[in-house]
Amino acid sequence: MAERIPIPCTNCGREKYFEGLCYWCRIEKERDEWLVMPDEEIEKKKQYVIDNIEDKDIIYQYFRPLFHYRAINTADIAKAAFAKEVYYPHELYRDAFPETVDKMINLLLTTPDKTEGSSMLCCLSLVKEDPGNKILNAFLELENNPREWRKKLYVDPSRYADIGGWTFEKDGTRVQLVYPQAYPFVKGDREKDKAAIMCVRKDTKCSHCSCQMVDMLTIDGRDERLSFLGIDGVIKALTCPNCSSVYGPTYCRYTVNGESEVLEVSDDAYLDENYMTDEDLTEFENNNFVLAREPVNPLYGCKDDITHMIGGMANWVQDTEYLDCPCCSKKMKYFAQIQDYILGSGDGTIYFEVCTDCQIIGMAHQQT
Ligand SMILES: [Zn+2]
Ligand SMILES: [Zn+2]
Ligand SMILES: [Zn+2]
Repeated sequence: MAERIPIPCTNCGREKYFEGLCYWCRIEKERDEWLVMPDEEIEKKKQYVIDNIEDKDIIYQYFRPLFHYRAINTADIAKAAFAKEVYYPHELYRDAFPETVDKMINLLLTTPDKTEGSSMLCCLSLVKEDPGNKILNAFLELENNPREWRKKLYVDPSRYADIGGWTFEKDGTRVQLVYPQAYPFVKGDREKDKAAIMCVRKDTKCSHCSCQMVDMLTIDGRDERLSFLGIDGVIKALTCPNCSSVYGPTYCRYTVNGESEVLEVSDDAYLDENYMTDEDLTEFENNNFVLAREPVNPLYGCKDDITHMIGGMANWVQDTEYLDCPCCSKKMKYFAQIQDYILGSGDGTIYFEVCTDCQIIGMAHQQT
């Protein structure tokens, strides 16, 4: 049998088994084309989406990059989508007009249909502004007085709100689970910009699998770009890269002086065997990613699974996973994602969440 010969990516040299660009370089190239597209062209494409709102391929091909990369206002798109009962992707409704929101809420509260009900929960959760807490109150109404179709759903409305990065307590208090600002990582000189660094090896080893521990993420909250995190110092997300890229969630307790210690919550989060080689760790540590100079749309990193990012919203591979703080039990707040491919292996994402009250970082992992 002929041996399969790996072919290097024509851009980055990463080995794969097909010609041309690798998966990551192809997405990056597409993204860069969208980022430099003239505004006039963006407007034309947006109109094209509105005119073809029922065409799933056009939505996929045009709406998603327009929305995630160029942060277009979706009010007119939402209006057109609602008129045609198009509810996916839910991001169509991000900037919905107040009139559209009113119609959506009305449908949510009156529909006898489970699919329609859950679609409305998803779409409404993603609407950016909620003046007068109309959306929150509708969710609360359903949570307290479930309709017949609720029995056919897996979770309560408060869990649907997660999709939009918020939730609410029983008394109706809104809780934000994400930060409104966002900065992606870009290739750059780590010596010149240390605001956010991925993967620094430690001297200690994992007590379960013996892999070398790493500060998966080091963040200097005093850097102006990251001031939105409200962290007055340097914090480090300490974990075992082997265990946390397979199981998790893992947790650490931090100080703003950059000292972290592992906080063991459950034995299930760890592996017995170390699959990570020294070369993997070296490659991981030698990454040349730095924080971008300019902020992006908070949903920039939700387009695909290649973007490492601080802030904004996560690209959940599976369902949203906001951890409960192991100390105070409150929902932790999402603040970063790192894609596994930086580890040289794996194809999943590590999500970083924080409880600033208890000074605890949680790291959840999801597999593609
Ligand atoms: Zn490549
Ligand atoms: Zn380990
Ligand atoms: Zn806490």
